[in-house]
Amino acid sequence: MSQELATRYPLVLVPGMLGFVRLLLYPYWYGIVAALRRGGATVIAVQVSPLNSSEVRGEQLLARIEAIRQETGAARVNLIGHSQGSLTARYAAAKRPDWVASVTSVAGPNHGSELADYLEKHYPATTAKGRLLSVALRLIAALMSLLETGYRGPRLPVDVPAAHQSLTSEGVALFNRQYPQGLPDTWGGQGAEEVDGVRYYSWSGTLQPGKTDRGRNLLDGTNRSCRLFARTFVREAGHCDGMVGRYSSHLGTVIGDEYPLDHFDIVNQSLGLVGKGAEPVRLFVEHARRLKAAGV
Ligand code: CA
Repeated sequence: MSQELATRYPLVLVPGMLGFVRLLLYPYWYGIVAALRRGGATVIAVQVSPLNSSEVRGEQLLARIEAIRQETGAARVNLIGHSQGSLTARYAAAKRPDWVASVTSVAGPNHGSELADYLEKHYPATTAKGRLLSVALRLIAALMSLLETGYRGPRLPVDVPAAHQSLTSEGVALFNRQYPQGLPDTWGGQGAEEVDGVRYYSWSGTLQPGKTDRGRNLLDGTNRSCRLFARTFVREAGHCDGMVGRYSSHLGTVIGDEYPLDHFDIVNQSLGLVGKGAEPVRLFVEHARRLKAAGV
């Protein structure tokens, strides 16, 4: 087997809101884990509460990292988080930088999601519409936990309002004041390459008419959802992946922020159905090579 992606520390993949490891046989990181393992990387896809605050999810992740350190004998891990998984990873690295060699944010709402802002404004928790949304999310999470086959562990607590607050611009601003590691100083800039010995990276995509809405995405309903969600964006209107804005995603070294990938394409969803010319798996493979070259 090739060893070109055999990083010094294991790659730990952290999912976003309503995330999972595997629903029956269907993985969250579709085709990504397999591609990384083929290159010799040790890859562990973890589960945290599908609906909860980044802090609660971050504490769960810390417990998981502790177990991984014992199981593998590795002193540290490389965290790669998608969406809210990025905030979860940032929390863990801020608390235990000695356990974390790098944090990579993939389409992470590092400055909040304008979709979450829209929902807070138009579907407040106190209204019937808001309560209905909350019940729907809880039902989806409950159904997904019944189908989950990749996670064995204690029942994970669900808190819909906490999850929502953790994703709004205001909620993330509060989070950022406590855990600023790797954030850019200026809107649209890059963050520090390394903080407290932890390397920080990010990449993200945007909706690009003629590319992201073509090819196999014609068959993918999640692309349609992203196009609908994108209409809620104001500050980054026309520069978002449907759920996260281009500049909102910036953290540490910005590898790229305009890949033709919607918020689901970026983890090769659904079923590898992505837009014309998109190669989301290649970005993970290249990143593993990058981490290996950096000695982590
Ligand atoms: Ca897709």
